[in-house]
Amino acid sequence: MKITEHIQNAKKPLFSFELLPPMKGQSIDQIFEAIEPLMEFEPPFIDVTYHREDFIYKKQPNGLLEKVSTRKRPGTVSICAAIQFKYKVDAVPHLICGGFTKEDTENALIELKFLGIDNVLVLRGDARKEDGGFIPETGGHSYASELIEQVINLNNGKFLHEEYSGPNGTDFCIGVAGYPEKHFEAPNLKTDLRYLKMKVDMGAEYIVTQMFFDNEKYEKFVTLCRENGINVPIIPGLKPLTTKKQLTLLPKVFSIDIPEELADAVADCKTDKEVREVGIEWCIQQSKGLIDLGAPCLHYYTMGKSDTIRRIGKAVF
Ligand code: FAD
Repeated sequence: MKITEHIQNAKKPLFSFELLPPMKGQSIDQIFEAIEPLMEFEPPFIDVTYHREDFIYKKQPNGLLEKVSTRKRPGTVSICAAIQFKYKVDAVPHLICGGFTKEDTENALIELKFLGIDNVLVLRGDARKEDGGFIPETGGHSYASELIEQVINLNNGKFLHEEYSGPNGTDFCIGVAGYPEKHFEAPNLKTDLRYLKMKVDMGAEYIVTQMFFDNEKYEKFVTLCRENGINVPIIPGLKPLTTKKQLTLLPKVFSIDIPEELADAVADCKTDKEVREVGIEWCIQQSKGLIDLGAPCLHYYTMGKSDTIRRIGKAVF
């Protein structure tokens, strides 16, 4: 079922979450172990991230390092299929521009359709660490909006090569990313919102936000979106702080602020166990506040650790 239908049919705010495929060499059981404790909250959908290739350096017998390109977390599509098969829950694969030609994208979309997947979260994707900025694939897309155009074309039965076009296109519900504290490359929030509106005008049907720790940021973002004619559901993304290190890591990686009150409380903690308690309590209060603000669904970034999210779910849902 489409995410938009889940939201329309919901009698109460929904609970959903995001998983990362296991590192290469690990078992898919990790995924099942992360999902099972969260099933009691009846998630209507589960997102699975996509990770493009990155470089690793392998030491050669002569002592020199060989640069090798590899995907550390493959398996997004098969994990989605396994989730749908095992739990009868809609799985939402993240679909990115990075590393994909248009032809690769078309083939991936056909596979997803054949697997019975109804939703895709369409993203530009992260840059490879070494590149220092996003580099599109030759013959691929530079922005999420271009990728949306391709998905919409396929939804309308328009394949890349005219001879295949016809009634057997796809019918994906498209989600996109939104940034209450603006995307790190955008010169300002207004410009970022203009591109977000472009994605929605092109056919995106819902937005999932980057994590944030201050509900006022979400409230202002939703107001600005509505003022700018962005009227699709806006699902807040949430992550509990669990280590002291995240106090500096998360702002750096995700270009977000940590409110003073939370930062001070974490700074006062003596152990990461204490930080985890502070982070869980903050996230519970944030979740309750977002429900009061009318958020249609709360989407948790599990990072593969469902025990913290379970405690939050127990207190909120
Ligand atoms: P876009 O919408 O393309 O925007 C990128 C930047 O370009 C923004 O600054 C925007 O303002 C600007 N822009 C947009 N369109 C144009 C245009 N036409 N001309 C000029 N500027 C433009 N990354 C992964 O690799 N894998 C994942 O699974 C993944 N999942 C994510 C899930 C969520 C909910 C979120 C919030 C992010 C996720 N990311 C993931 C990270 C995401 O790929 C990065 O934040 C990326 O840098 C931007 O992606 P986007 O889809 O928002 O890009």
